[in-house]
Amino acid sequence: RAANIDGKEYAAGLLERIKADVEILQATTGAVPGLAVVLVGHDPASAIYVASKHRQTVAAGMKSFEYRLAQETTQGELLDLVHHLNNDAEVHGILVQLPLPAHLDPNAVIQAINPDKDVDGFHVSNAGRLATGNPALVPCTPLGCMMLIKDTLGESLSGLHAVIVGKSNIVGKPMAQMLMNAHCTVTVVHSQTRNAAELCRAADILVVAAGRPGLVRGDWIKPGAVVIDVGINRIQDGEKSRIVGDVTYGEAGHARAITPVPGGVGPMTIACLLSNTLTAFRRNHAMIAAA
Ligand code: NAD
Repeated sequence: RAANIDGKEYAAGLLERIKADVEILQATTGAVPGLAVVLVGHDPASAIYVASKHRQTVAAGMKSFEYRLAQETTQGELLDLVHHLNNDAEVHGILVQLPLPAHLDPNAVIQAINPDKDVDGFHVSNAGRLATGNPALVPCTPLGCMMLIKDTLGESLSGLHAVIVGKSNIVGKPMAQMLMNAHCTVTVVHSQTRNAAELCRAADILVVAAGRPGLVRGDWIKPGAVVIDVGINRIQDGEKSRIVGDVTYGEAGHARAITPVPGGVGPMTIACLLSNTLTAFRRNHAMIAAA
């Protein structure tokens, strides 16, 4: 049977390591990393995410700054807050929770964030740095996938064939860049691809981020492949609903290892957000020390 890649356990260990690093940094610099999270309006799912981010930020020994703005906040007011946070020395990471209410332009807001504080890794500067193999803040979900892949296969992925299903800016594209930077041979499959099953069957590493429940069937998976299922889909199962991934999990027994859904990639995302905040803090202090 395929081994289970336990993202929940890995994320818990990562949070412990981050907490220990924060304590050491506090002792040596006198400062702790600070994360500012901005929530506009009252989307219930976003409110749950933001509360969870706040809890885990505090648990890691970091400072958490929460900004809950009214639904009718204007673009100008939101940009003013971003500029204020860009200039706040206690804030090392800034995250604007998406989706924003429809009257606001998410792209303009993201591009206003100082790229060195852009812990979601969505700023074009960070996308460009990642694409050119320069130090970047990278999107949290593919960063978490990369950690799980390396934990399963070891640090060197050189020469392995990685196939990614999905080409979104927040998962598929940065995942492809990270795997290329790790010297994999990379194929990207998306909704217009003609021979998706055949391409997936060639993968040593298969990362699936399509948002289509059960899309990847057993015969899309090469025996011995490592399968990372990013999909989070709520499906109706009789009276109840449950969460499933993009891979038909029950058909993947011949894989070497696979992430379950839930409990695989999902728990890694917030841990990686805090990892990025720590990275931003370290780079900020290295810059101050070098100046
Ligand atoms: P998206 O809708 O922006 O992109 C989906 C991509 O999948 C597109 O590039 C599309 O071309 C491709 N696709 C769609 N149908 C396909 C098909 N039939 N065959 C091949 N490719 C197909 O989605 P996203 O934001 O990248 O998220 C993808 C999934 O990952 C969703 O289920 C989302 O909920 C989940 N997700 C999970 C986390 C997490 O674990 N924390 C974070 C982000 C996204």
